Amino acid sequence: MSDTTIVLASGNAGKLAELQRILAPLGVTLRPQSDYRVPEVEETGLTFVENALLKARAAAIHSGLPAIADDSGLEVDALQGAPGIRSARYAEGGDAANNAKLLEALDGVPESGRTARYQCVLVYLRHPADPTPLICNGSWEGRILAAPRGDGGFGYDPLFWVPECGCSAAELDAAEKNRISHRARASAAMLEALGQRQ
Ligand code: IMP
Repeated sequence: MSDTTIVLASGNAGKLAELQRILAPLGVTLRPQSDYRVPEVEETGLTFVENALLKARAAAIHSGLPAIADDSGLEVDALQGAPGIRSARYAEGGDAANNAKLLEALDGVPESGRTARYQCVLVYLRHPADPTPLICNGSWEGRILAAPRGDGGFGYDPLFWVPECGCSAAELDAAEKNRISHRARASAAMLEALGQRQ
């Protein structure tokens, strides 16, 4: 695995830097998919896993390299797992609209019924036709607040109460969030899974 170059199927520089740091012990180099002119894929899957595989496969095809992709979102129990794979485009109007729609959907639901979690799936394909992709999950348990708190983070963070920290995800400092989030947990699992592939 050491000296392997892997393409990350994401345009997010922050995600690339964070995952590169976590996978550093393996000696792999992550490259952004923008280096290989990977076209945007339509996320037609019904699960995080399917969508991550679609993204990783496109990146592997267009780069000729092994590929990692992630897919993540918020799963709210009272909404049967919504917004789920539609988290980014739940209200078709960006983060503020998504948060407003979520609050409305949970209107009248008591605190005990507002359980939720962020989910992150990371997949690794050795090549586009790899029949045994590595699939790693990370989840982060919380509860949906009745009103936003804090102005850090992104997405649903102002509404995501983190019981272990006694604050919303938007009130956590970035380093702390990177240490305990769903992405951190999935990334740690991927480090271990890739290490075992050596
Ligand atoms: P992506 O898979 O990282 O693009 O995330 C999909 C969507 O899930 C985002 O647009 C957010 O709405 C939501 N999401 C995923 N991770 C987080 C997070 O750490 N905080 C807040 N929202 C998140």
